Amino acid sequence: MKKNISTFIGFDSDYDKAELVLMGIPYDGTVSFRPGTRFAPSEIRNNSYGLEIYSPYFDRELTDYNLFDAGDIELPFGNTQKILDIIRENAKKILNDNKILFSAGGEHLVTYPLIQAYFEKYGEDLHIIHFDAHTDLREDYMGEKLSHASVIKRIYDITGKDKIYQFCIRSGEKEEFRYKDKGIFQEKFTFSRLPEIIEKLAGKPVYVTIDLDVLDPSVFPGTGTPEPGGINFNEMLNLIKILKNAKIVGADIVELSPHYDQSGVSTSAACKIIREMIFAILK
Ligand code: MN
Ligand code: MN
Repeated sequence: MKKNISTFIGFDSDYDKAELVLMGIPYDGTVSFRPGTRFAPSEIRNNSYGLEIYSPYFDRELTDYNLFDAGDIELPFGNTQKILDIIRENAKKILNDNKILFSAGGEHLVTYPLIQAYFEKYGEDLHIIHFDAHTDLREDYMGEKLSHASVIKRIYDITGKDKIYQFCIRSGEKEEFRYKDKGIFQEKFTFSRLPEIIEKLAGKPVYVTIDLDVLDPSVFPGTGTPEPGGINFNEMLNLIKILKNAKIVGADIVELSPHYDQSGVSTSAACKIIREMIFAILK
C-alpha cells in the first residue's frame, strides 16, 4: 500500500494500535455512465481538513479513538479480476489483524471483494445493510457480470437469502424490485424500517455499504449516476444515528466523483459522512 502525504483528519494512530483502518480504493473501471470516482479518496483526504475532529452529533472527537489511514491501494488499471483480487487480499490482511475496515471508493464494484473477505471471516452470520439510489441487482451490465450495476447481485450470489437489506432505492429494472420473494429486504425511497431491522440483527455482525448517490443530487451532485428523489443530508445523519445501534464490523462509502461538483460540496458531504460513521461504528 502506498502511504499518502496527507491522511484523513484525526487519523493519527499507528497501524498496530488502530482499532479502525481507513483504506482508499481509487477504482472506477466499470462505471456505466460517467467515470471519475478514482479521484475520490485523495480528494476526501485533502478536504477532510475543512472538518473539525469534533462531532456535535455524537459529542465525540476522532482522536478519542485509535484510527489509522492506510492510504490508497495501488491498482493496475485494465484487469478487473486482478484488481478485485488485490482489493480482497488487502482487506483480508486488515481483518486478520482484527481491525475494523472502513473503505472509501471508488465505484461500487469494490464492495464485492470486500464482502468476499468479510464472508470468509464471518460466514453465514454476516448481514449487509445497503443504502443506494440503485438496486445494483442486474445479473450483468451489457454482458459484464463484474459491474457496479450488478455488485449487490454478485454479493447475493455469495451470501444467499435473508442477508441483504436495501434502503432508499429508487432506480432499477422492474425485476430488480422483485427480490422480496428471493430473500432480499427492499425498502423503496426511505429508511423508515431501518430501526426495526437493526433490532432484528442485534448481536449479528453487520457490514454497511453506502452508495453516496442515495443522497439527492441537489445535496450531492458529485456522482456518476445522479438520481433525483433522494434523501437530504439531515436524513443521512439520522440514518447514521440509527446505525449506531448495530454491531458494525465494516463499512464503505462509494461513488463520489468529485469533479462533477465544482463547488466541492459533495466531497465535504462525503468527509462528514465518514466522520459521523466512525462514531456510529466505534462505541
Ligand atoms: Mn447508485
Ligand atoms: Mn451502487
